[in-house]
Formats: sequence, C-alpha cells, structure tokens
Amino acid sequence: MDIQFLGAAREVTGSCFLIRVGNQRVLVDCGLIQGAPEDEERNREPFPFDPSQIDAVVLTHAHLDHSGRLPLLVKAGYQGPIHTHRASRDLCRIMLKDAGNINEREAEAVNRKRRRRHLEPVEPLYTVKDAQEAIRRFRAEDYGVIRKILPGVHMRLRDAGHILGSAIAELWLEENCIERKLVFSGDLGHRDAPILRNTEQVEEADLIVLETTYGDRLHRSWEATWAEMAEIMQGAKGDGGNIMIPTFAVGRTQDLLYAFTKYYEDWGVGDWQLFLDSPMAIEATSVYRRHEEVYNAEASRLSAGNGGHMFDLPNLELTRTTRQSMGINELHGSALIMAGSGMCSGGRIKHHLKHNLWREEAHLVFVGFQARGTLGRELVDGAREVAIWGEPVEVGATVHTVGGFSAHADSDGLLSWLRGFEGHPTVALVHGEDHPMDAFARRVRDERGGEEGILRPEPAERLDLHRL
Ligand code: ZN
Repeated sequence: MDIQFLGAAREVTGSCFLIRVGNQRVLVDCGLIQGAPEDEERNREPFPFDPSQIDAVVLTHAHLDHSGRLPLLVKAGYQGPIHTHRASRDLCRIMLKDAGNINEREAEAVNRKRRRRHLEPVEPLYTVKDAQEAIRRFRAEDYGVIRKILPGVHMRLRDAGHILGSAIAELWLEENCIERKLVFSGDLGHRDAPILRNTEQVEEADLIVLETTYGDRLHRSWEATWAEMAEIMQGAKGDGGNIMIPTFAVGRTQDLLYAFTKYYEDWGVGDWQLFLDSPMAIEATSVYRRHEEVYNAEASRLSAGNGGHMFDLPNLELTRTTRQSMGINELHGSALIMAGSGMCSGGRIKHHLKHNLWREEAHLVFVGFQARGTLGRELVDGAREVAIWGEPVEVGATVHTVGGFSAHADSDGLLSWLRGFEGHPTVALVHGEDHPMDAFARRVRDERGGEEGILRPEPAERLDLHRL
C-alpha cells in the first residue's frame, strides 16, 4: 500500500497522486501543468504509469490544474470511471471542451507557420473529441456519501468551498486487514466566500495531502473587499467612463454577479449597463445557477428572493456573439464590462482594452492573480503604455487591483482546518511554490512542536502507507 506524488509536488499545478492498494490502482486528480512554455511542454510527456492499469480516478474539482490531463489519460488507454461531484462534472464539460478547442486552434496556428517552413505538422495536446471521451467516463457523486469504488477502497467527497462542486476526497484503503485513511484537500476555499459553503472539517486521517498555495499569506476581509468595490464604482460613475473587469470564467465571475445582486442599491449597480462578455463565463454561470443544492444559506435566500433566478440582474446583458460584443464599443460611459481572459492574455477583454484603456475617464479593475509575463501583470505593475496586437496603446484609465477575491484559503485558513483533525496525522504539503510551502511547514512545526510527520514530498516520491 503506497502513494506516489506524481504532480503538484514542490509546484502548484499538475495535481496527480497515484495510490496502490492490493492489486488496485487509484489516481487522485490528473491536472495540467500550467506556467512557462517549457513547463507546459511536460504535459506532452507520457504518463509515468500505464493508464490502462489504473482502476479508478477521483477528481477533487474542475480547475484545469486538477482535471486538465484527463482527456490525455483516456486517450492513453484509461477505461475506468472518473468519480467527482456532479457540479464538477458539469463544469468539466465546459472547461475540458474549451481546453480541447484552444489546443486545436493553437496547433493550427503553429502548423500554419510550420507548413511555410516545410516542417511536419504538430498534433494538438488533445482535441474537443478527446475531451468528450473523457467526460463520458465521469460518474456524478454527491457530498457526504461513503461509496465503495473498488475492492478495498471506499470514498467520500466533502465540500471544499473553493469553487462550485469542489471536494475534499476521503479515501479508506484496506489491504490484508490493514486499514489506512487518506484525506486529499484538493484546493480549500476562502472562508465566508460568496455563494459557497465554508470548507467542511474532516476529523480523522492517517495521511493528509494538503495544498499550500497561499501558505505564506493572509487575505483581506470580505468586508474590506466589498467596500473597495463600492468606492471604485462610485469613483467611476463620477468620471463618466466605462469599467472593465477582466474575469476568470469560473468562480470570480459568479462572485461578482452575486455581489452586484447583493449590493445592487448600495453600489448604485442600477446606474450601469452590465455586460458578461464571455461565452464560457455565460455557460459556467448557468452551471452555477443549476446547482443551488450546494449554495450557502445567504445565497439560497438571495436566490429565493430573486424568484429562484440567481444572477439574473435586470440590467445584465449576456453577449454571446462577436457582433453583440462589438456593439459594446459604442458605449463610452455607463458600461461595466466583465470579459475574459482573466489575465488579459487573450479573449474579448483585449478588444475592450483597445477601445477604453487610453481614455482617462475609464477604469480597469483586476480581481484576480496576474501571472508574470501577462498583459494583466504589466498593467498592474503600472505600465504607461502597452502593446495590444502589436500596436501601442497609452494607459489613460485608472487601474485598480482588488486583492481580497481569492478562492483559496490563506495561511490561517489552512492551519485552522489542519487543527480540526484529531491527533497529529502525517501531513504531506503539496500545491505550493517553495516559499509558501516552507512558510506553512514552519507554522505547522511550531504548532506541533517538531518536524515529525510534516512531509514535503519531492516529485515522484513514493510513501509506504504501512509505515504511517
Ligand atoms: Zn482550484
């Protein structure tokens, strides 16, 4: 009985853990490696195991760094079920297909250049069809139900409160009358977030595999975040320009729509024409709307007060077609535009930036993390001029960074969840860059009074579960 840390070991993305129990093999997550091009190239390497020999997959949530290599796994011969929460299945339907589509378009663009140089064409990492094959293997689960998924393996998903359908996976393993319980945090949510419930506490484990994305940080409170948004909207109203918000399709968009509903009067939301200008965010929002069963109490109340139609604001327009999207360019003031991509590296937001960024009365509001090397990061760092499709655009607009919107638990949140376990189970820290992970390891060590049972596994490291 052992576990091998095949991904997200000493890095943030590419979540993937292989468990061997008896003659069964279970994979927890099969995520995409995201980041610099040389890192992403690793997604093309063959799996370090035979996919046809895996008996079951458990998926914690829909984010691509946890789910994004499932189409490759199925393409490489995996034929078993993929157990995940039903809302994660619905989100993956959109996200994996979208990823397949992007892969196809990227390969086409590369191949156009290669053809000119008489080079062999490259294959897309995977296609829309590959994504659909993977989605066929999904088995929808609910929170809180213990299920036997294989001989000697029981599973229960608990609400992680990170994005819709996100789960902590509890696995009970049995081999020759020896039992071990493993708990995979997946990504844990930010306490008191909009829409979702707080992370469920789990009390028992022999091994906890814990994410540490923000192991060295503390978030601003939600109250401070909402106050900041209110102030920005009031300021922008006075200036008479448009507001642009680059958004991630899943999670951040719905948090914003929720806040606009909740603070409709306080923020003067009615003064604006709201546009959700992202086909993928529109689809993701409809998945959020369908899964009221996982809302927190306030969200349920708000939805009921809105006639059961969460996210239906009277002044919200969903712009699906390019034509509708281009129509927004006619508005110079009073338009609040939410569009992808979240880091301005592609998508419709670039059109809106081109039309608004140079205007002194416009406002640009960042509500998510901006990775190094992206247009979003340049703007956050205070660039006075940026290139959009190769053309220089002056930055006249006011640029805001609202930092409190994280979907991840901060250092205090992680520690308090860990404290909720009985005794001091062994904890393997994953999903973190070195600094946050080491900082968090120090906090756990100080709390427990020693290093024992605090692991920071190396990539591909194997841990014998008998020895726990
Ligand atoms: Zn996540």
